[in-house]
Amino acid sequence: MGVLIWLGVVAAFLVALARVKAPLIVWTGAIAGVLLLTGYAGLLGGLAAGVLWGVFLLVAVPLNIAPLRRRVLSNPMLARTRKVLPPMSDTEREAIEAGTVGWEAEVFRGNPRWERLLGTPAPSLSEKERAFIDGPVEELCCKLDDWQITHELNDLPPQVWDFIKRHRLFGMIIPEEYGGLGFSALAHSQVVMKLASRSVTGAVTVMVPNSLGPAELLLHYGTEAQKTHYLPRLARGEEIPCFALTGPWAGSDAGAIPDYGVVCKGTFQGRETLGFRVTWEKRYITLGPVATVLGLAFKAHDPDHLLGDKEDLGITCALIPTDTPGVDIGRRHYPSGAAFHNGPNSGREVFVPMDWVIGGQDNVGRGWRMLMESLSAGRGISLPALGTGSGKLAARTTGAYARVRKQFRLPIGRFEGVEEALARIGGLSYMMDAGRLLTTSAIDGGEKPAVATAIVKYHLTEAMRQVINDAMDVHAGRGISMGPANYLARAYQSVPIAITVEGANILTRSMIIFGQGAMRCHPYLVSEIAAASNVDPRTALAAFDRALIGHMGYTATNAARAVVYGLSRGRLAPTPVSGPTAKYFRRLARMSAAYAFLADLTLLVLGGTLKRRESLSGRFADGLSFMYLCSATLKRYEDAGRPAADLPLVEWAARYCLYQVQNALDEILRNFPLRRLGQVLRVVVFPLGRRYRYPNDALGHRVASLLLEPSEARDRLTAGIFITQDPSLPTGRVEFALAKVLAAEPVEQRLRTSGVSQPANKPFDAWVDELVAQGVIPSQEGAALREAREATRAAIGVDDFPRHQGVTAATDEAA
Ligand SMILES: Cc1cc2nc3c(=O)[nH]c(=O)nc-3n(C[C@H](O)[C@H](O)[C@H](O)COP(=O)(O)OP(=O)(O)OC[C@H]3O[C@@H](n4cnc5c(N)ncnc54)[C@H](O)[C@@H]3O)c2cc1C
Repeated sequence: MGVLIWLGVVAAFLVALARVKAPLIVWTGAIAGVLLLTGYAGLLGGLAAGVLWGVFLLVAVPLNIAPLRRRVLSNPMLARTRKVLPPMSDTEREAIEAGTVGWEAEVFRGNPRWERLLGTPAPSLSEKERAFIDGPVEELCCKLDDWQITHELNDLPPQVWDFIKRHRLFGMIIPEEYGGLGFSALAHSQVVMKLASRSVTGAVTVMVPNSLGPAELLLHYGTEAQKTHYLPRLARGEEIPCFALTGPWAGSDAGAIPDYGVVCKGTFQGRETLGFRVTWEKRYITLGPVATVLGLAFKAHDPDHLLGDKEDLGITCALIPTDTPGVDIGRRHYPSGAAFHNGPNSGREVFVPMDWVIGGQDNVGRGWRMLMESLSAGRGISLPALGTGSGKLAARTTGAYARVRKQFRLPIGRFEGVEEALARIGGLSYMMDAGRLLTTSAIDGGEKPAVATAIVKYHLTEAMRQVINDAMDVHAGRGISMGPANYLARAYQSVPIAITVEGANILTRSMIIFGQGAMRCHPYLVSEIAAASNVDPRTALAAFDRALIGHMGYTATNAARAVVYGLSRGRLAPTPVSGPTAKYFRRLARMSAAYAFLADLTLLVLGGTLKRRESLSGRFADGLSFMYLCSATLKRYEDAGRPAADLPLVEWAARYCLYQVQNALDEILRNFPLRRLGQVLRVVVFPLGRRYRYPNDALGHRVASLLLEPSEARDRLTAGIFITQDPSLPTGRVEFALAKVLAAEPVEQRLRTSGVSQPANKPFDAWVDELVAQGVIPSQEGAALREAREATRAAIGVDDFPRHQGVTAATDEAA
């Protein structure tokens, strides 16, 4: 017993040292003190004490004597680092260095400072932004008839295009001084989310000019002349922009574009002008077919040295009016189920004056860095908002549908099988929204969070895939039968678009999140690599030695934290709150320490070869991502003022995330390239085994129940999407039916208890009339029964079409 108490005291002491980030000399003294006291108290036998002191001196002496340490440790490690450093191209380096890191670095490093998370103000819209979303955006949603857009017109109707331009929806990111709306990232995200809940085509059309495109690039890198010319015209919708990077030969590996521009002198507006002759072939370019200005990425070459000594100048971005002679643009692709404009374009030896290069001649060759920096913000806004909008749409409609649709004389949402799907829809939608909010807050806080935006791009579109799939399963035939009444199938068809664009998901998970995350979030890796790349041996060794000492302390404290938190089942881990969510903060701190330790050791063992081990990298990406999403979930609950009714959603999402982190770490260890070392590491990472479980059925039942009837929690979960009770609109029909069904339920219940049921040979209306006539129920209750029946018929109704006319002339039976 005495030994256990002593071990507990020592563990707490070591954790305290780790928390204050004690320097090496303090650690050395502290461990020596612990050994002395242990011996003095008679808790160690002579042999054990001798062995422990031997090991301690063997490690502590060389570590604390700098010249010795450099010889026996730092120098060999430096040589090894040089050997295992991965070869890195300029484009890879620029991609890795782009942007900043925020909360994701905290969870990566094993000791999240919760005050940093909870100290960030809750995201909020300005009055102007709120009024815009409640006004013009709501109005636009009412105008977006997705069946007409996707099926009949294969385009937005002209009045919708006009509305979008007139209300400057293409200029959300353009500052007011240039005539734009000057919106925050949060407002931008809210707009896209709301539109996405009504029409993916509408949302994508609006999102693209506000995401990675000419406006974003001009704002950061454009010359004053370019900004004054283009930004007001883009804000007013007088110019329609697109940005063309992808081509047939370069998709995910966009740095490998073969499109080229040769520096030359040409004639422009009657004068000899310095510029490029550009040849390109692009595809998949959103808004390309209707664009008036083409943002183009090409590789600049200067064989005649008109600009300087270098011949290959690198990727360059220019803005080319699409009516320039030689630009071939206008044909369309047909992206899965959506009708936004998207198509190929090309040009052969098109003369592009130097003034058209974004930022002018100084920015020739800087295009890749520009794109990487701009991408980091944009990909954290548009697609996460689209994914979340679809998630909320699924949550709202599927809950209502599962309540009004009855089979086996019960609402289908009461069956456990359907509950499982509803629980995923509710829990994941909460998590998605939380991730969206945390990331837009970071962007509005001035960050360009490269890793967090990759996390939300990947996970919110993957969660969208899951949630929409579940929603389709619950709606079954109602979800499959396409037509004006269907509010799900187009979102379902569009999922692969969200998965593919702005960094295809497999690549984002397996290469980017951890590849960039490790480099950007690890506190010592970059300094070590910089030292290893230093050609001066003395400064290289000194810098490497400094970083290595910090690194060793970092690894040791994370190992100590991981074991102590693991053995205490998270109870010794810190939490910034009390109450029902405290345990999730603790568990997350525990997972964070284990993750940091394992990531560190893996980087040490695999070095640059980790780049090729995409399965491992992908699992590290999952671990990091779900820690980020779990933090976001807990923060969202705090920001909302801890409403008790939301707890089932919070707990479901938190448990789901922790379970995924645990699985990721478990799978890394199971597939660890050095099997024996993997087994040793498992003792540190899971000292008491795998403790976290998938959310249980009881919790799933509480989440599912929350979706099945109106409540403030349901409203909070789905806040920000287009919500209507208008039965002439597809989603309004199911909301309307829910209200009517709930109003009729007490009457039905009473009839059931009294043993009154509809005879098999009598139509429903006739039966109700009879009940009223016989005085079994008053006439208003009869009306409630009839209204519920009628509203349900409309909500469960699907479209049918004349046999010989195809599906163009829809008979919207449900309308
Ligand atoms: C509807 C739509 C709109 C688009 N809009 C634009 C636009 O406006 N402008 C623009 O420039 N581009 C645009 N794109 C292009 C988009 O960015 C690319 O489709 C995307 O980069 C993937 O390229 P790819 O389709 O050629 O797939 P590929 O690069 O051929 O990839 C195929 C698969 O392999 C995976 N993969 C590739 N390399 C690796 C790797 N190293 N490790 C793991 N997995 C890997 C990918 O994740 C993907 O799953 C759009 C695409 C679509 C479909």
